[in-house]
Amino acid sequence: MKPIYLILILICVSVYGIDINVGNNNNNYKEVIEIQVDRVQVLSTSVTINFTSNCPTFMQASVWGYTCQPTKRINEIQCTGLEPGTTQAYLVLSQCGSSFFNTFLNLKTFPAVGNPAISFKVLDSTSFQVSHRAIGGAPYQSTYNVTVRGENNGFEKKIENTYSSDQVIRVPPKSSPSSSCTYIVTVTVYNDYITNTSVDSIKLQQTNRDKQLAREKEKQVFQKKIDSVPDDTAHHMFFSYNEALVPPYYVILDTNFINFSCSLKIDIVEGLMDCLYAKCIPCLTDCCAAELERLGPKFRVALKISKDPRIQRLPCFHKGTYADDCIINRITMHRMYLVATCDADLRRRIRKIPGVPLIYPKGKRYTIERLPDAPGAK
Ligand SMILES: [Zn+2]
Repeated sequence: MKPIYLILILICVSVYGIDINVGNNNNNYKEVIEIQVDRVQVLSTSVTINFTSNCPTFMQASVWGYTCQPTKRINEIQCTGLEPGTTQAYLVLSQCGSSFFNTFLNLKTFPAVGNPAISFKVLDSTSFQVSHRAIGGAPYQSTYNVTVRGENNGFEKKIENTYSSDQVIRVPPKSSPSSSCTYIVTVTVYNDYITNTSVDSIKLQQTNRDKQLAREKEKQVFQKKIDSVPDDTAHHMFFSYNEALVPPYYVILDTNFINFSCSLKIDIVEGLMDCLYAKCIPCLTDCCAAELERLGPKFRVALKISKDPRIQRLPCFHKGTYADDCIINRITMHRMYLVATCDADLRRRIRKIPGVPLIYPKGKRYTIERLPDAPGAK
């Protein structure tokens, strides 16, 4: 027996005060015969009455005036087709041999389940919350089936036989950031014999909040990597092989590298990925960004490219604005970067620092030096 039914019976007994009168009219047996109402289950359109009895012979019971029938179970009578939410008096007659018993019950059926009202709350572009309430019904008596179907992505989720009226639905991420998908939500609420269904839909689109979350996550990955590089820069390197260099690769861009890529018409992010076959995060220090600003109108395309949101800005807190020193200091402090530069002078300086790979344009693509496993290595 479900615990909820037990609670319902207790409610019935306390609210309606089952009045059990056992009349022992004509007892031919020597032992005391008892027939009493043991359990009453009230739903919205039916009432089930159970008896306990020590009757040694055939026992019969009936309820007068209503559509009540004995069920297949012994000592059980079920009245069906009742009006939800109404109170009725029941006279239960039972017989054991030639002894008759009667019991009066005053029972109120539960209200109808009502119609499920559906509401949505978008959590992010891959999840939303469905809330459903059976309006005008008895919520504690209602069971829900919820089906969510994506209109054009084949997504389907079914939640069955739940008492919870809030569901969090997670859907697959969208193929492109600008795409959207409509999800059709069907909620069915039912109790013993009544089923009501409502349908509603929700459209999910990539939100600004998603982009914000994605950026925050990238920042966390970056910080984690910086934290994992030991301050003592020697011991995590074996010869000049730097163990901290694992994807995603953080590539510090030099101003002239941006400018060259721009005139060679190489997309920096794509070019780096083609060279390293791994996720790359191009980085630009504040000093390099300031240098690009200073270079004037001739470098305005490079300046525009440097503001690409895929390029991560590395804030500078040091004195001076000389970009080359800025890069050297940064890679000496945290040996987790690759440096992309066309400046032969800067490359010579960097080669003296172990464990810092170099990237520069060669022909119409980039080449890498000092990253042994890189596919683009020369
Ligand atoms: Zn700097």
